[in-house]
Amino acid sequence: MKSYKIAVLAGDGIGPEITREAIKVLKLIEQRNNVSFELLPASFGACAYFESGDPFPQATIDICDRADAILKGPIGLSHEESKKIPIDKQPERGALLPMRRRYNTYANFRPVSLPKALAHFSPLKPEIIGEGIDLIMVRELVGGLYFGEKETGVNERGLRYVKETLEYDEEQISRILHQAFKLAGRRKKVLHNIHKSNVLKSSVLWNEILEEIAPDYPEVEVINLLVDAAATLLCLNPTQFDVMVMENMFGDILSDQGGGLLGSLGLMPSACLGDEKAYYEPSHGSAPDIAGKEMANPYSMIGSVAMMLENSFDMVTEAKNVWDSMQGVFGDGYSTADLSKPGSNVTMIKTGEFGDKVVEKLSQKPKIQ
Ligand code: NAD
Repeated sequence: MKSYKIAVLAGDGIGPEITREAIKVLKLIEQRNNVSFELLPASFGACAYFESGDPFPQATIDICDRADAILKGPIGLSHEESKKIPIDKQPERGALLPMRRRYNTYANFRPVSLPKALAHFSPLKPEIIGEGIDLIMVRELVGGLYFGEKETGVNERGLRYVKETLEYDEEQISRILHQAFKLAGRRKKVLHNIHKSNVLKSSVLWNEILEEIAPDYPEVEVINLLVDAAATLLCLNPTQFDVMVMENMFGDILSDQGGGLLGSLGLMPSACLGDEKAYYEPSHGSAPDIAGKEMANPYSMIGSVAMMLENSFDMVTEAKNVWDSMQGVFGDGYSTADLSKPGSNVTMIKTGEFGDKVVEKLSQKPKIQ
């Protein structure tokens, strides 16, 4: 029997609710497969700061270090609550970015996927959705503005100023582009390169490197698109996209737009892969507006489990079973509050009920021998 250690960082806000549902699914997967998961819970984010004064405490680092994979819930507080934590200890700066840096998880895969049968969840018109949306955003995750040097102070005119640096070296750019080309080669063989080379020199270098790498992947067609135009075209004609690659901040913003196209950020799981370590997290935040109300959609967290099964444990068929089970629950007409619009024929269920129904569907799938 294979055995894996999974660090489980439930996080803040809706994190514990959606993590609880993901664990239900993991427990069933153990029963259905010749595999055991040792779940190692650890505190991370604002909750960890309030417990210990550190949003990424040493005890959590130790657990993550020895885990085979990390399952991470969203972290963070509301705008007002965040002010209770010193700026450098706030969850993203104090925990998330340090984790990404520590494990060098440079490749972030964010599927934006809505099959035709579920197209009614999208705010886009049916004629725009067509056969459904099925694209993946590949986001560089450990470089750019979020990781560059920062400086604040008062300038010679006596004005407060801030300076943040956007830095990439060619190795950082080429490794994420290789990931994107490989993925495009396994899919529709079209890669949209999202950049801003008309303004940013970082994009000029990015594009230069892309041109150097492209001949290694002759089967992949590259389409270059400015990030601002990409934002528009995602709304007007999302089905033209299959694999999109972009630097860190562009990916942060455009992938949330992806959640908007689907109808909810609750439909956005992700995988954050490094060469040695991977972690899996919903693309969204801790949703303080609905935390503790059993309104959160756990699809993003259960989908992150599916991505973990596929990428970290090579359980490709079972990952597909998990996706199918979630789609099946929607297909039966159930959904959490985020996707239950007035006038739709959807029966609204709570976070826990959604998880239970996924478990029920998954348990009906043939067991993998
Ligand atoms: P958010 O992503 O938490 O929420 C935006 C909207 O989407 C809200 O209306 C929320 O209710 C809804 N939503 C998000 N996930 C949902 C789900 N699973 N089911 C149903 N609805 C869902 O963004 P925000 O409110 O701007 O940020 C809240 C906190 O999260 C902030 O502290 C922010 O810094 C943090 N954050 C963390 C991460 C991360 O952990 N990787 C990512 C983004 C934001």
